[in-house]
Amino acid sequence: MGEVFVHRNIANIAPNNDFNFITVINYALTHLEVKHVIVCGHYHCGGINAAMEHKDLGFLNPWLRNIRDIYRLHSEELDAIQNVVQRNNRLVEINVVEQCVNIAKTVDFQKAYKTREVYLHGWVFDLKTGKLIDMKIDTDLIMNKIERIYRMD
Ligand SMILES: [Zn+2]
Repeated sequence: MGEVFVHRNIANIAPNNDFNFITVINYALTHLEVKHVIVCGHYHCGGINAAMEHKDLGFLNPWLRNIRDIYRLHSEELDAIQNVVQRNNRLVEINVVEQCVNIAKTVDFQKAYKTREVYLHGWVFDLKTGKLIDMKIDTDLIMNKIERIYRMD
């Protein structure tokens, strides 16, 4: 009660093939039975910025590929933003939303959603102002929009 169970990684991502993330989400939802799952990104994120550079970053490449794939999904909106800092910060916001969708696709979240109250939240921390920006995630909307192929009946 009143506790926070935290998992952190580069660029705040929830990759379905990362055992660390999968284990954390399983433990949090199945054993701790957390009611609120929060994805919290931050502006001027080094991981997001690195993914936007066309550099070979070695071992980081496959990890940052998750971000590049999100950029591809939203390239129309992002390409229209001329200012690089603003574009990268918008990608931070989009990434938070997309990672909530990734969590919604996990069998652990789907099971929890079917049997009890559980909510997704997407926040962006602005370190310059100290403000927390709520991306206003609608858990029901996300769960209703998840494509059939991801559903575990
Ligand atoms: Zn970061």
